Amino acid sequence: MKVLLNNSSLFESLRPFDDLGFVPTMGGIHEGHLSLINKSNKLCKKTIVSIFINPKQFNNKKDLKSYPRNLKKDLKILKKSKKVDFVYLPKFNDIYKDKKKSKIILPKKDKVLCAKFRKGHFEGVLDVMNRLTRIVNPQKIFMGEKDFQQFYLVKKFLERNHKVRIISCKTIRDKNNVALSSRNFLLDKSNLNVAANVYKKLVNIKKNIKNKENISSFLNLGKKELRNNFKIKIEYLELRYMNNLNISKTTKKSRLFVAYYLNKVRLIDNI
Ligand code: AMP
Repeated sequence: MKVLLNNSSLFESLRPFDDLGFVPTMGGIHEGHLSLINKSNKLCKKTIVSIFINPKQFNNKKDLKSYPRNLKKDLKILKKSKKVDFVYLPKFNDIYKDKKKSKIILPKKDKVLCAKFRKGHFEGVLDVMNRLTRIVNPQKIFMGEKDFQQFYLVKKFLERNHKVRIISCKTIRDKNNVALSSRNFLLDKSNLNVAANVYKKLVNIKKNIKNKENISSFLNLGKKELRNNFKIKIEYLELRYMNNLNISKTTKKSRLFVAYYLNKVRLIDNI
């Protein structure tokens, strides 16, 4: 596993390879990231992982400051996996010194779910993914369904603007079905217990949606119960189609999306 600390060593090292799988991350490496790496390793000759906490996608300074950072441990895990050929650890300037603006405007219809609550977040994500793709120039990029809206928007944007394919990977969960996330490092055991119960309730809500006349009021009731039972702040609980993220009235080809705050940590999931 070769560690690339700047763009010139990256360009030099990647030049010979034309079957490159790319797994962009913000570190805090866990089994979810490793599942993306495994898939890349199976489908591509070489796999490159990046670790870069992109300040421009954080709409909240406190969130950026408290985001888990543990580079030493991350590198150890990646090395031990034996599935990573290159780790790219860019500095801010490696990504942003290219002043070529990629003006990114989310269409109004995409300003739903996290885009509605985290102003500027996806503009930041699309900008950094556009830059990373230009620099790394991979054939395939692997992204998790845990962040489904991110996968959806990045796929739409990058496949239109680059010769690259974005490949989705299933959500990896812990033994209590809590979706793995770097942010879980900020939670204690009792918080994780609540998250496990929220997951159970979501499964129950999705199961019972099927025979409901008025889905929106049923989801409002679900929200109220989640709030009261678990003392969490919920941003959204919505059933949406996977192919366009429009509101759905059926569980077919649709997912239930949730975002909530637990102990001031913002968690998202979709089932
Ligand atoms: P992050 O480091 O949180 O920015 O995530 C990097 C990539 O890993 C993104 O494509 C995420 O969707 C993906 N990812 C994060 N958590 C999981 C998970 N539990 N299962 C599968 N993929 C995940």
